[in-house]
Amino acid sequence: KAPVITVDGPGGAGKGTITQMLAQKLGWSLLDSGALYRLTALAAERQGVSLEDDAGLVEVASSLDVAFEPTPVGEPVRVLLAGEDVTAEIRTESCGNNASRVAVKQPVRDALLQRQRDFRKNPGLVADGRDMGTVVFPDAPVKIFLTASAEERARRRFNQLKEAGVDVNIDALLEEIRARDERDMNRSAAPLKPADDAQVIDSTGLSIEEVLDRCMAAAGQ
Ligand code: C5P
Repeated sequence: KAPVITVDGPGGAGKGTITQMLAQKLGWSLLDSGALYRLTALAAERQGVSLEDDAGLVEVASSLDVAFEPTPVGEPVRVLLAGEDVTAEIRTESCGNNASRVAVKQPVRDALLQRQRDFRKNPGLVADGRDMGTVVFPDAPVKIFLTASAEERARRRFNQLKEAGVDVNIDALLEEIRARDERDMNRSAAPLKPADDAQVIDSTGLSIEEVLDRCMAAAGQ
């Protein structure tokens, strides 16, 4: 079986950037599992399927017509839904919120399981998510749990949004981050927690390069 490095952790810990850099450095494929939950939420909205309709959501998740196209590090991976570029649409706060509502449903998670495992191929896979090491790739040889304090994650998000010209209140962001952590950790379906054999890396106060070095060391590279 092809090797897998799983990188799990709360939103805003820097998983997206780090997994993109790791995959590029190693020449491996990348799975952004959060994008699949975001796509399920977006496709449901477009098809008029309610977020309360579990059977409808399973149908949407099983029939997602999605393609990922690699982009240079720093640029989000291009995501196509039925051939249409939805890279920007799936990154909105509202799509993220809907994704986390869809993600609490075990049948939806089950419907996306095999699709995620299909990303595993030679020479290897870097998998970004919440349950990569615990549920999707429990036999992964390298598991990383990347975290950072809620305050640090709020600050990073604030700076990102400021750069994008969006004016937000940092206290409101912090509140949202705490609420999403709470929901991700306390749900019964695949709650967010480090796998027993994961190496925990706290990125609070570290630069991207320092985090990347620690992840490469954790991966034995
Ligand atoms: O990582 P990202 O913010 O794109 O994920 C969106 C939402 O999807 C998360 O808030 C989380 O609730 C859910 N998710 C999940 N399991 C994963 C990846 C994401 O439940 N493996």
